[in-house]
Order: sequence, then C-alpha cells, then structure tokens
Amino acid sequence: MSEERLPTRSENFSEWYNQLVIKADLADYAPVRGCMVVKPYGWALWENITSWLDREFKATGHVNAAFPTLIPMSFFEKEREHVEGFSPQLAVVTHGGGEKLEEPLVVRPTSEAIIGYMYAKWIKSWRDLPVLIVQWGSVLRWELRTRLFLRTAEFYWHEGHTAHATAEEARQEMFSILDIYEHFCHEQAALPVIKGRKSESEKFAGAQITTSIEAMMQDKRALQSGTSHYFGQNFAKAFEIQYLDKDNRLQFCETTSWAISSRIIGAIIMAHGDDQGLVLPPRLAPHQSVIVPIYKTDAEKGTVMETAQRISTQLRAAGVRVKTDDRDNVSSGFKFNDWEMRGVPVRIEIGPKDVAAGAVTLARRDRPGRAGKRSVPQAGLAQAVADELADIQASLFSRALDFQRANTHQPRDYEDFRRIVEDGWADAWWCGEAACEASIKEDTKATTRCIPLDQPGGEGRCIKCGKPAHERAIFARAY
Ligand SMILES: [Zn+2]
Repeated sequence: MSEERLPTRSENFSEWYNQLVIKADLADYAPVRGCMVVKPYGWALWENITSWLDREFKATGHVNAAFPTLIPMSFFEKEREHVEGFSPQLAVVTHGGGEKLEEPLVVRPTSEAIIGYMYAKWIKSWRDLPVLIVQWGSVLRWELRTRLFLRTAEFYWHEGHTAHATAEEARQEMFSILDIYEHFCHEQAALPVIKGRKSESEKFAGAQITTSIEAMMQDKRALQSGTSHYFGQNFAKAFEIQYLDKDNRLQFCETTSWAISSRIIGAIIMAHGDDQGLVLPPRLAPHQSVIVPIYKTDAEKGTVMETAQRISTQLRAAGVRVKTDDRDNVSSGFKFNDWEMRGVPVRIEIGPKDVAAGAVTLARRDRPGRAGKRSVPQAGLAQAVADELADIQASLFSRALDFQRANTHQPRDYEDFRRIVEDGWADAWWCGEAACEASIKEDTKATTRCIPLDQPGGEGRCIKCGKPAHERAIFARAY
C-alpha cells in the first residue's frame, strides 16, 4: 500500500475515487484496456452483496442456472431495438481452433437472446409458467475508458430472466424485483435510492418499460444502481416463446429481465467514503471489526495477544466478522491508517493499559478521530460491538438520506433548474417528450434519471417547454 495521501474529495472527486479503489485493495487494472481485476478484498465485498440477493431471489421462487458466454450473431438480429442498442458495444469472435467460423459469435453483453432461444424450446404449456431463472456471471460490453467498478468492459452481475402467462404478472415481477433492489440498497448498502420508470430514451434496448433505482453520490451525480425491465411480448415474438393456454390456444409469453452489477460497489464507495478512504456499511463489510494489538516489549505482547485472541473468539462466536491484525513489520499507526483506508466499520485497539483496565478501545470508522473513540469493558464486548455496528449502519443511511434530500430541489423556473443541476438533483414537472429531454441534456448535461413511482399527483407545466405535464421527473448529471 502506498503511503502517499489520498486526494481529498473536494480537491478532485474523480481522482479520490480512482486512487481509493487501488489503495483500499479492492481492484486493479487489467492488461486489457477496459478490463479490471477484482482483488480478494473487493471480491469478499461482492460476495456479501451477491449472497444477500441470492437468498432473497430464492426465497421468492427464483432458481439459478448458467447459459453460455458465446451467442450466435444472428440471435442478436432477431430483436431490432436490441441489436441497435448493443451493436456498438459487441465483442465478436470470428475464429475458433484456428479456423474462420461460419457464423461469428458474440461474447454476451447481456443474455436475453440466448435465454429467449432456450425458453422457446422449454416452454410449451401454461403449466410450464412462470419460469423464474437467475444467471450469475459476467458480461462484456466494449469499453475503452476504464473506471474500476463504474465503467469496465467486463463486469459482474446477476441477470434475472422470467417468462409469464400474463402482462399483469410480468409487470408485477418487474416491480417486486425493484422492491428487492430497494431493500438491498436501504438495508444492506445504506444507500437511499429513488425508484422510478425510465424515459423512452433512457430505457433498455428492447424493453417496453424499464424501471431503475437511482442513488446520489457525494459529488451529487446520480448512479443507476439497478434496473428491472418489462419486455411485453417483444422478445417472446422475436424468439417464438409460446405456450398453449388452458383453452389450448397458442399464446406469446410476457417476459422480464433485471440486474444489479458490480457497479454497485462504485456506488457504495462514492456514497459513503471520506477523505481517509473507504467507509463500508457493516452489513456488507468483509471485516466488520479489526483488532489491532498494541505493544512494545515481548512481555506486553504476550498479555495483549492473549486478550486479542480471547476477544476475537468471543466476537466470532457472536457472529461478528472479525480480523486480528497481527503483522509485526508495521506500526500500529500504519495499521490504523490501513484499516481506515479499507473502511472497516469498527477498530478494536488493545494495549497494555486496556488489558490492565479489563477494557478495549473501540474506534468507529464513520466518525474519524477522537470523536469516534471510547473505552468499553471486555465483559459484554460482543454486544457492545454488535450495537455499534447497528448504529453505524443506521447512521450511514440517515447521513446519505439527509444528503440526498438536501441536494434535491424543485426548480421555480428553467433558469433555476440550470443552476440546480450544476450541483444537485432537480425534481421537476416534465412533459415526457423526447425532444424536450434532448434539449435539456444538450443544454445542461443533465438527463432524466427516472420518473419516480411515487408521484405527488396533480398537474404542472414542463420545466423546459412549458407544456402541460402530469408527472415529475428527477434530472441530474449521471455516471
Ligand atoms: Zn417539455
């Protein structure tokens, strides 16, 4: 780890992010441009994200399966909007085993095409429905500018693909997945999000409705943190996914797809991190607590390490993910900085004075310096740490929510709107027309992030063109 200081967020937010990802040991740049290597610490964080979602999907009737990485090019051409949307980003395999292939193969950028093809084979009758399958893996979308986790050619995700008998059921699926995503963000990632529908221009290629959750980063830009799409019969018609209904009539299925990708790690970093480094929500942190033993002499080391060992066992038994930093080639000051950089929620310092007092010193990552430190008796420590973790989790969420609310404004007029989106989110009446949206984007770089599901009702005038508007939209500059 470099000892060089991290740029502060106010000096250069983007450099702060880039260096933080490396210094916190989450990921590294790959030799292929656009690609990333996720390091063990970053992967442990990802596993905590995926294992929660996986449990939730299974609890709601979904099952996992795996589909191939290579997809025949012709499959992409079956759904017109889909191929138009993805063709600039496709990586294509033209040779295999030293020979030119008869048909080029696409490295999957998303799997609607291959899964649609298989669903057409598998689904015959209304009895086969619904099909609720999730695939965990990576996809590739050609990318030259790399920003670790935020923008990489290959990224990790799950993609849910479901097929239903009715439009109502498919739309219900889209919304219930969006609810799972919202719960994940609020309860696990401590990330307040706004649920909404995407505008026509921002929706997924081939979708009838795209919904998303949008989160505010500390530079006040928006990050789309998950999407859930309703396709209607678009893909079912392109791939002939049909079933015989109860009256023996042939019907097209209604399908959905949805995803949260490894980009969410970028969102967690940018929503919670501070000038000392990463700040991880306790529920997702690979190490919820790190024990730093402090000693000078061998005699001190003996008693301090014995206490550290005992406390580690006690915490582990109580279900706390705890690590003891027993490196003897670096100072305790170095260890403090290192674990702050890596965002461990609670540091437990144990020195000879703590041992003598039957206590330890707890330091909270979300309150750096003296303010976050207190002495706690060793007896009942597991409960004290659990309480501290719960309090950190809640306070990260409320801090992020306050920030989102304080930086979201309702513009009085278009001039006000322009000022707001320079440095925040605008919550404004919008006519819903693509041309109006495009001119706002051209003028301010702000896009419609979503049309919130939660609408105030009533009518207004579009913030840009003044035409009657019956919905409000969130406008922001986005990642
Ligand atoms: Zn308008």
